[in-house]
Amino acid sequence: MKTDKNLYLGIDIGGSSVKYGWGNPSDGLLYFDKVHLNGTSLESLTITVNKIMGIVNKEIGLQNIIAIGVGTPGTINLKTGKLEGVNPNLQEWVNIDPKIIFPAELRDKIKFENDANLMALAEASCLPEVHNLIGITIGSGIGCGWVIDGQIYHGAHGYAMELGHNIVEVNGIKCNCGKRGCLEAYASVNGLLNRVNSNKEFMQLENMQDILNYSRQNLLIKGYLKESIQYLSLAISNLLINLDSGALIIGGGVIENPEFPYIKLERAIVKGFPHIQRDKIIVRKAIYGNWAGVMGALLISSRD
Ligand SMILES: [Zn+2]
Repeated sequence: MKTDKNLYLGIDIGGSSVKYGWGNPSDGLLYFDKVHLNGTSLESLTITVNKIMGIVNKEIGLQNIIAIGVGTPGTINLKTGKLEGVNPNLQEWVNIDPKIIFPAELRDKIKFENDANLMALAEASCLPEVHNLIGITIGSGIGCGWVIDGQIYHGAHGYAMELGHNIVEVNGIKCNCGKRGCLEAYASVNGLLNRVNSNKEFMQLENMQDILNYSRQNLLIKGYLKESIQYLSLAISNLLINLDSGALIIGGGVIENPEFPYIKLERAIVKGFPHIQRDKIIVRKAIYGNWAGVMGALLISSRD
C-alpha cells in the first residue's frame, strides 16, 4: 500500500499483544492489526515492536511516518519520561525508558502516553460537542482518563485518574500496588481471577469468559461478579459526582464481552448520580473498542 497522505503511526502495548495502525486525524485509522506477544519479557516486546516496524516499512515506508504515538499500561513520569509503578502483566515494563524497545533512529519521533488516557482521547474525538469526558477501561486492570477541551489531564506529577486504586473496601483484599481494598483488586479481570482462584476447591479459571460461564452455576462466583459491578458503579459514580463530566465512556475487554451484563453496570452508575445530574451526563459504551488505544496514540503523535 502506497499513499500520498500524511501518515502517523499508533501503537498500543498490551499484556498479550501489540496493536498498531496508521492514518491521520482527518482520515482516522487507515490500517489496523495486532501481533501477539510471545512472552512478556522486554526482549519479546522488543522483538514484537521490531517486527511491526518491519511490516510498516514494507507497506508504507518508515521514512513516510511523520511521528509515532505509543500507548502503554502504567504511569509515565512527566519529568523523566520513565515508566513507574507496577505492571502486573508486563513485569519488566517498569522503571525504564520505554523508548528502548524501538530502533534508535526512530526514538526522536515517539511519544508515550498511558493507554486509558488514549482511549479517553479517542472517544472524545467522536464527541466534539462534549468538552469534558471521562473514559474508563475495564480489562486485566482498570484504567481511567479525563479529557478536558481535547487535552488529557495528568495532574501535577502524571499520576491523575488512577481509578483502579481508589479504595472501595476498608482493610480489603491486597492490591498489586501494595494497598488494601483497591477497586482493581475486586473488579478487574485479574482481581476477579485472584478472588476465585484463591478458593482451592475450585478449578483454576483463566479468563473473564470462564468467570462469566461459571457465574451461572456457582453462587460464590456469581457473588464475586455482582460485587465487582457494585464496587465499579460506586467508584465511577463518586468520580462523576466530583468531576461532573459531560460524558462517561466505558470500554475495555470486559465491556466488549457480549455476555458481560453491561446494562446492569450502567444502570447502577447512573443510579449513583445525584438526581440533578442523572439526565445530563452521557453514559455509554466505547465506540472505538479494540482500536481505541491505537487511535488515541495516532492522535497524540500528530500533536506538537
Ligand atoms: Zn491498588
